[in-house]
Order: sequence, then structure tokens, then C-alpha cells
Amino acid sequence: MKKVCIIYTGGTIGMTKTPKGYAPCKGFLKKKLLEMSDFKSDRLPAWDLVELSPLLDSSNMTVHEWNIIAEEIEKRYNDYCGFVILHGTDTMAYTASALSFMLENLNKPVILTGSQIPFCEIRSDALDNLIESLMIAADGKANEVCLYFGGRLLRGNRATKYSADGLEAFKSPNCLYLAQAGIDIKYSEALLRKPNAGEFHVTKLAPVPIGVIKIFPGIQFDLFAPIMTESLRGIVIETFGAGNVPGGENQLLPIIKKAIANGTVITVCTQCPSGRVTLGAYETSIMLKDAGAVCGYDLTTEAAVAKLYYLFSCGYDSSAIKSLMEKDICGELTQL
Ligand code: ASP
Repeated sequence: MKKVCIIYTGGTIGMTKTPKGYAPCKGFLKKKLLEMSDFKSDRLPAWDLVELSPLLDSSNMTVHEWNIIAEEIEKRYNDYCGFVILHGTDTMAYTASALSFMLENLNKPVILTGSQIPFCEIRSDALDNLIESLMIAADGKANEVCLYFGGRLLRGNRATKYSADGLEAFKSPNCLYLAQAGIDIKYSEALLRKPNAGEFHVTKLAPVPIGVIKIFPGIQFDLFAPIMTESLRGIVIETFGAGNVPGGENQLLPIIKKAIANGTVITVCTQCPSGRVTLGAYETSIMLKDAGAVCGYDLTTEAAVAKLYYLFSCGYDSSAIKSLMEKDICGELTQL
């Protein structure tokens, strides 16, 4: 009989109302699931629930918690056919991206889900999201880290939260959905990743100093120079359009050059939700390329951040990291 492990990390799905707003509540979710007849249905796989402690609003997730989630999966990897990770929506796409790198040679579904409205409220989207995630985890077709929400199965490292209040809260603009749930769950078989050779193992992440800088009109780069050149080891620059930055040679270039000379890896992503970076398409991006910045192509910021954590944690030197940042490791980037 198929059995799925649900790992509950926190998030709206299991929150209750407190005088300070919604907050996770120890033991509440398990009690709720055991009370509901849906979770006794013989159309569902058997399930166990592991509740992490403390339960978190996902705004509080760090590399430390990513390591704990990965460890919990590793401990039970052979005991279950798949895993459902219940997580807050705010940073779910970051955690999905991180796990996609950390869970190496994964050959089982790991499905992150949550809800915009908690189980304790009427009109909650929690029931559908959890039931369908359990079914997808038991189907065993998507043997990778995915995010399921609002009827869509997304590749975890392509997902981004795009609605703060909609029930279809996630999109993966540069990757078609892996499955959609209508009357049946329909998989896009051609998009699913092929089975991995090699043994499953977890790469833990270190809290490497990583930064994200979003470019805006009038940005005064000199204010960012100290952290860019001295403190950060990996930087994601969210540029305009296809990789463009203001300021020309005089402002940003010396800072980038100094940072790169110090071994900092600078990855250029776009602030557009969809499309890709082409360094050198415009005069306003060519100097990033000439200075040695990495082209993030169609990486989401979430995936770029997670990938930097991962590659630094693997112990590669900065030239290896720069070259791997531009290559697809686990479906996070489209190489043309
Ligand atoms: N703040 C919540 C969280 O990310 C939001 C949610 O779960 O929807 O934990």
C-alpha cells in the first residue's frame, strides 16, 4: 500500500486566529485532518504527519530550516513513496528551489503546498491543495521537487509567488505546468524529469552571505559598494528587461569589477516575471558581461538565490560557480 509522508513546517494552512493575527498552532493541523472524513478515504494513499518544531510563518524560514526539512526527508526516504511539505506561501518558492538542489538524485515526488486561507476558516483552499498533493505524491509520476497550488503542479525551482491574495497564487512563467487538476490530474508527461541514476543524498546548505539588489531608476550604486565588494559572496542583480542597468561604465562597473576580483559571484536576473536575460543585447548590459557577471538567463530570483547557496555550500571555487550558474542542474534554467 502506498504511503506518503506529510511534513508540516507551518504556514497559513494550519494557522489559527490569535490576538496578533494568524499564527501556527502546535497540534492543530493533525487534529483537524484526523477529524475530516476526506482524509480517511480509501482513494487517498495512507499518510503519516510529521510536525516540525517550532512551526513557522514561512517569512522566518532560513537555510537552517531548509536543512531540517531535507534531513527529515532523508531519514524517511525509503519508508514512503513520496513527500508532501506543508509550508507557508510567502517563501514556498525559495524552499522549493533550495530543496531541488539539495535533494540529489531524487527519484520520488516531493510536493510543496499550503493555502491562502487556513483550514480553520470557511472557503479554505487547504483541503483541495492537500488532497491533490497527496495524490500526486502517491502517483509517483513527478519524481522531483514540485509546488502544487490552485490546481497546478509547477516545477519547484521555476515557481514564483505572484499573487498575495489569489487562490492561484503561484506561476512558473518560464516553464509550462507539469500537471493540471481538473476532473482528473493530467500530467504533461514530456516535461517530467527522467529518473535519476545514482544514490539519493542530501547536500546541506551553509548560511553563505548572499544578497539581492533590485535595480531602479536613479539607483545610487556607490551606496551599495561596501556590501557588494566586501560582505557578500553571491549577489543576484534584478535588472531591467533583458539584463539592463543604468549608469553606464562610470558608476557600476568599478564596483562590479572589484566585487568579482574579490571572488563574489554576480548573477544577472531580470525583474520581469517572464522571459530571459541576454547580456550584450544592449549597450546597457554589455559591460556586465565584460566585467565577468554571470548570465542568469531565465532563472527566477528564488532559484538564483538557492543555487548560489547550493554551489557555495558544495565548496566550489568562484570560477566553477560562475560556470555552473549558467548551466542547467535540475531543470531550473533553459539553455538555448
Ligand atoms: N505568512 C504566511 C506564510 O508564508 C502566508 C501563507 O502561508 O500563505 O507562512
